[in-house]
Amino acid sequence: MGDLLIGVDLGTTNSEAAFINDKNEPEIIPAREGSFGGKNFPSVVAFRKDGKIIVGHAAKRSPFEKITGFKRHMGTTWKYRSRTLNREFTPQELSAFVLKKIVEDAEAYLRKKVTGAVITVPAYFNDNQRQATKDAARIAGIEVRRLLNEPTAAAIAYGLGKAKDEKIAVLDLGGGTFDVTIMQVSSGVFEVLATSGDTELGGIDFDVALMKYLRDKYGLEETPDMQRQVELAKMELSSVDVTYIGDIEVTREEFERVIEPVLKRLEDPIRQALKDAGLTPADVDKVVPVGGSTKVPAVIRKFESIFGSEKIVGGVDPMRAVAIGAAIEAAVLEGRWKGEAPILVDVTPLSLGVEVQGGLVSVLIPRNTPIPYSAKKLYTTVSDYQTAVRIKVVQGERRLASECIPLGEIVLDGIPPAPAGVPKIEVTFTIDENGILVVKAKDLGTGKEKQLTIEAPHRLSEDEIQRIIEESKKYEEEDRKLAEKVEVQSKVVQMKKALKDLMESETFKELDDETRSRFTAVVSKLDEVESKADLEAIEKELAELARKLYGAEDES
Ligand code: ADP
Ligand code: MG
Repeated sequence: MGDLLIGVDLGTTNSEAAFINDKNEPEIIPAREGSFGGKNFPSVVAFRKDGKIIVGHAAKRSPFEKITGFKRHMGTTWKYRSRTLNREFTPQELSAFVLKKIVEDAEAYLRKKVTGAVITVPAYFNDNQRQATKDAARIAGIEVRRLLNEPTAAAIAYGLGKAKDEKIAVLDLGGGTFDVTIMQVSSGVFEVLATSGDTELGGIDFDVALMKYLRDKYGLEETPDMQRQVELAKMELSSVDVTYIGDIEVTREEFERVIEPVLKRLEDPIRQALKDAGLTPADVDKVVPVGGSTKVPAVIRKFESIFGSEKIVGGVDPMRAVAIGAAIEAAVLEGRWKGEAPILVDVTPLSLGVEVQGGLVSVLIPRNTPIPYSAKKLYTTVSDYQTAVRIKVVQGERRLASECIPLGEIVLDGIPPAPAGVPKIEVTFTIDENGILVVKAKDLGTGKEKQLTIEAPHRLSEDEIQRIIEESKKYEEEDRKLAEKVEVQSKVVQMKKALKDLMESETFKELDDETRSRFTAVVSKLDEVESKADLEAIEKELAELARKLYGAEDES
C-alpha cells in the first residue's frame, strides 16, 4: 500500500474528493454507499442515540438529529450542541467528521494510505477560517499539504492559468452560497482582483421556490421526503424538458418561470465584483461556471447575458471542478503530474520590509514576488555607540511602518560601540513555498546573528489584502510627502552632525573668518529646512564651499 495525496473540496452542503490516477487523469473518489444524484459526500453529520456519529448520505437521509452548513461558522466561536449526545461540537470537529469519512472511503477505494490532502477554501476566507480548516484536518489525522482557493482550483481543472494576462470570472453557485471571484491569471500566477457574493443564495432557493409552487398549485405537502423528491426533479430538469413527481408533470419551462426571481439575484454580486475589480464584463476573457447549481441551463443563460456566450468555458463537470483542481495540485506537489497544468505560483500578496529611521519602511520583498524567494539588505546604526538594533518586520503597502501590519521584531544586541553608520547589520528575508518567512539579522562585525520565524505572514483574506492595496493608493501622495519630510529631516540631522564635527576640528580653526562664518550660516539655515528643494540648495552651497576649501589647498 503506497501513500497518496488527494484533493478535497470541503463544501458547505456537499464535499467531493479526487485524485490523479496512473493515466494522469483526474478521478472522483466515490462514497462507499454510492452517490445519489448529488456529490459523494454530503457535508452532513447526524447523531444517533447509541452514540454513533454518521456522515454523508446516511446522515442527510436521517430523520433524527443532524447538522449541516457548519462551514459557515469556521473560524468563529460558534458551537453546535447535540441534544442526542448532550455535548458540544466546534465547526472544526464537525468538518473533521466529513474529512475522516472522505479519507476512509478514499483508502478503501484506492487501496492506498492517504497521508495528506490539498484542501480548498473560499477565496474570501481569512486567517482564522483557514486555520480552522487546517485544525479540522489535524483532528481528522491528515496533513494539509496546501490550502488552495476554490476559484483557483476550479480554474486549474478547466485548464486555465497557462496563458499570459487573462482575466477570468469564477462564478460558483452551490447549495446555499454564490461566490464571485474575479482573477487575473498569468503563467501560473493567480491573483484575486475582487470577491463578492451572496451567502444566502444557492440551489436550495430553487428547491424552495419549486416546492412552494407545487404546494400552491397541487397542494403538495412539504415533508422531508417531498423536499428530496423536489430537489431530484430539479436536477433532472437540467438535462430533460419534463419530469414527474408522482403523477404531477413539471416542465423545464415552468421551473424556469418559478425561479426567475432567484436568477435575478445573481446579477448584483457579479456587478459588484466587476466594479471592485475596476472592470466591465467586456474586460473579462473567460467565465468559469462552478458548483452544482450552474448545471441549471437558465443559470448559464444568465451568465451569458452578462458576459456573452463565447466566454463560458466548458468540458468539466462544474460540481467536480474544485475537487479536480485540488487533485491536480496534489499531484503537482507529489511531483507526479505529467500534464501541462500551470505550476501554481504563489506570490507575496503584500510587501514585506523592516522599519528604518524616521518610521519609514524599507522593503525587502515587494508585493507580487513569486515565492520561494530570498532578499538581503545592509543596515546600520543611527546613533553613536549604539550597541543594539531593533528590527521591526512589517507587511503592507504604506511607506510609514506605523500604517503597516507588524509581524514581529528582532533585537540584535552586543554590537561593539562605534560611531553611527559604521556597524553593518545584514538583514535577510527568506520566504519558503508555504509562505513561511524567516528573518535573519547578522552583525557583520562580530558575526553574531538572530532569527525570527513568522509562520503565516500573508494569511489575510483576499478582501483584506485588496483593502490594504486600495488604501495605499488613496494615501500615496500624502505618504510620499511624509516620507520625503522624514528623509529630509534625517539628512539634516546627519549633515548637522558632520558639520559640527568639522567645526570642532583643528582644520576648521585654521580657516579664514569669512569661510568660517559662511559655514556657521549654513548650519543655522539647516534648522529651517522644510523641503527637499531647500535641502538641495544647501547641499549645493556646501559643495561649493568645499570646492573652494580644497581648491585653496590645491593652490598652496
Ligand atoms: P456546495 O459547494 O455549496 O456544497 P455544490 O456545488 O455541491 O454545493 O452544489 C450543490 C447544489 O447543486 C445543490 O443545491 C444541488 O441540488 C445542486 N445540483 C446538483 N446537481 C444538479 C443538477 N444536475 N441540476 C441542478 N442543480 C444541481
Ligand atoms: Mg462549493
